[in-house]
Amino acid sequence: MSFDILGKAVELLISYPLCDYCLGRQFARLGYGLSNRQRGEALKTTIAMLIHSWVEEGEELEKAKEIAANGGLNAVIQVLEKKTGEKLVGRECTLCSGLLSEERFEELAGRIARELKTYEFRTFLTGAVVPPAIREAEDRIRSGLNIATGEDIKNDITRGVGRRVAELTGAKVEYLNPDITILVDYFNSTFQLQVNPVFIYGVYLKHKRFIPQTIWFCRRCWGRGCSSCNYTGREYETSVSELVGVPAMEYFEALDYKFHAAGREDVDALVEGTGRPFVLELKHPRKRLLDLKRLEELINSRSAGVVEVRELRFSSRRELRELKAMSPRASKTYVAEVVFSSPVEASKLAEVEERFRNVTIEQRTPKRVLRRRSDRVRNKLLHEVKVLEHSGNRVVFRIRTQGGLYVKELIDGDNGRTRPSISELLGAEPEQIKLTVVEVEHKLIQEQQLSSGA
Ligand SMILES: [Zn+2]
Ligand SMILES: [Zn+2]
Repeated sequence: MSFDILGKAVELLISYPLCDYCLGRQFARLGYGLSNRQRGEALKTTIAMLIHSWVEEGEELEKAKEIAANGGLNAVIQVLEKKTGEKLVGRECTLCSGLLSEERFEELAGRIARELKTYEFRTFLTGAVVPPAIREAEDRIRSGLNIATGEDIKNDITRGVGRRVAELTGAKVEYLNPDITILVDYFNSTFQLQVNPVFIYGVYLKHKRFIPQTIWFCRRCWGRGCSSCNYTGREYETSVSELVGVPAMEYFEALDYKFHAAGREDVDALVEGTGRPFVLELKHPRKRLLDLKRLEELINSRSAGVVEVRELRFSSRRELRELKAMSPRASKTYVAEVVFSSPVEASKLAEVEERFRNVTIEQRTPKRVLRRRSDRVRNKLLHEVKVLEHSGNRVVFRIRTQGGLYVKELIDGDNGRTRPSISELLGAEPEQIKLTVVEVEHKLIQEQQLSSGA
């Protein structure tokens, strides 16, 4: 037997006061291109005709009165009042208390659109919070009457508000990755905007030593300011993260930023060559459709000679995850300028090149980082060591390694904690080591970008 829609609707209205939305929503899975309000109206029109026929026949008057009052069927109420001489009043919807209405949707969407005016965005998604009591009441009604054709009241709210916001702003609804999420608390008549971050990919170069990648607070006062840090609160005046993040944050009118790089270099190492990849996350930005070429100029002119960014383009949270996942594995290439305590023989250097080709280095956590990292032995692959320049006790090496190998210790041996080491093989002590990162592998990321079509 087919599902008796009209019979169910009559049963619903005998027991519960329901507005057009809340009656129609119980049959939301039936009928294309209709709103729940239209479904409810259509059912109520038919029911009003049915009751009218009962009243004409003088049948089921008590039932008729309940249905008319619960459904707010004004035309029938008039007929019944005439017939019985009793006063009948329409009742407030038991689920939404009459709050679902075109007028209230308009009003709330208008307020949301006014606030959205201060943001640049193309896509949005509307979400709704609904008091649990409403949902529980609706569940009880449905299970009591065996109704399986309904939908969540959330959908009435997100459609009612979302459609109007789209009209008012010209923005599109996007489910997967919206620029802005509007969280509507309809029954309290409030809303929250969750402005999703802008992600920017790029590479940075660091042309000056003693610039840390991120803010490095003073070891004695942890940022409060003391005599040892000259009341700056810091070990170093600035950082790569600030030199890149602050101009970007201002340009995009964001509230905050987070700088995620593919690994980090020592504070006294340079980054040259193809640079180090990073993803900059700008939080709660008011702008998001800006020209990144201009941002590149802005950053590079402000931090001229210290930090330089290149290849800026819009990125995604997905790419950020990939960057983080692959950066420990990514291979790195360094140029190391080393001054030894005594002259180095060319034949020994040839031996270094020979010996340090695709070898595994056993490295116990370096003494200088023991405070931050646990003491254990790591096995890392060293791809190659090339001698670029040599005169007397000064040697310039190019060293390509798997990510995570400490290069200074590869050179000086760290008192036997790193084995084998260059100094061990040469039989010479390094007095000075100047490191420059010249390449951080990031082909993988770009390949994934291309294959995903992003
Ligand atoms: Zn309702
Ligand atoms: Zn201090």
